[in-house]
Amino acid sequence: MDDCIFCKIAAGDVPASIVKQDDLVVAFEDINPQAPIHIQIIPRKHIPSVLELDSAQVDILARMVETANEIARERGLDERGFRLVFNCGPEAGQTVPHLHLHLLGGRAMSWPPG
Ligand code: 5GP
Ligand code: ZN
Repeated sequence: MDDCIFCKIAAGDVPASIVKQDDLVVAFEDINPQAPIHIQIIPRKHIPSVLELDSAQVDILARMVETANEIARERGLDERGFRLVFNCGPEAGQTVPHLHLHLLGGRAMSWPPG
């Protein structure tokens, strides 16, 4: 989609620190990290939010989670723990309307979230 920053990152048209990528997903370092490890996992396909996900996209969702798990293991977060977050819509603080899974780790986190 034109004018979507995450589509541009996925296409390589906007630079990002890419952690992993394959045919379905791209993972890259967040530009404004909220934890020592803060990575975005996005589908290459433009999907506006988690609300648009259903069983037809189960391959994409599974790959996003698999990729997050691989990165978590590689960074030693499997033992320490980590958080996966989909923000959806204004009250959740979604600012980029292209589906993204936040992988956050490397510090203790509180609950409930702010
Ligand atoms: P949201 O608030 O929509 O759940 O999360 C969007 C995330 O994308 C934020 O954590 C923000 O820092 C990150 N982000 C926004 N624009 C860019 C960008 O151009 N490059 C990178 N690497 N991250 C971005
Ligand atoms: Zn997009």
